[in-house]
Amino acid sequence: MMQTVYLGLGSNTGDRQANLDRARACIEAVEGITITRVSSVYLTAPWGKTDQEDFLNQVIEIETELEPLLLLHKLQEIEIKLGRQRYEPWGPRVIDLDVLLYGRESMTSQELTIPHPFISQRLFVLVPLLEIAPQLVFPDGSTVQEVLARAESRPDGNIIQKL
Ligand code: ADP
Ligand code: MG
Repeated sequence: MMQTVYLGLGSNTGDRQANLDRARACIEAVEGITITRVSSVYLTAPWGKTDQEDFLNQVIEIETELEPLLLLHKLQEIEIKLGRQRYEPWGPRVIDLDVLLYGRESMTSQELTIPHPFISQRLFVLVPLLEIAPQLVFPDGSTVQEVLARAESRPDGNIIQKL
């Protein structure tokens, strides 16, 4: 079944814009994935682990028939192809590809949690998501506007800037 899925892209080492561009090209090249919307690129102060370069972040909408785990594995292949090496949590990365939302599905496992575990706290995901999908509703029934409003009221919200 065709699903509408939102992916988060991030890069904070090397040519960050080129890394995002290459990642989108690789995603579009996967059989069974079509990119349908692309957000602006946002410059983001690092989150969680703050002693590192700023990130460029972007959110894209895809249509796909790939099951969630297969989709994750395709994204991980692309991360490795683009040169991602260390899997230090929240550390510097050439490219980070996250499954943010997969239709209205919810699932929790060690390998894959959907919605993405930190989506509701990360302005650099929620702001571009609102840009490309203002009508979006999360599996729990919250609108993206509601989730964003809650995130903005938190004291630790990181600063993001639309490029
Ligand atoms: P993060 O994206 O949180 O900064 P990583 O990209 O290093 O960190 O991801 C660590 C692990 O998170 C991956 O090995 C993956 O199995 C798991 N994971 C769980 N849920 C998701 C998801 N929705 N999207 C991408 N990875 C996920
Ligand atoms: Mg990731």
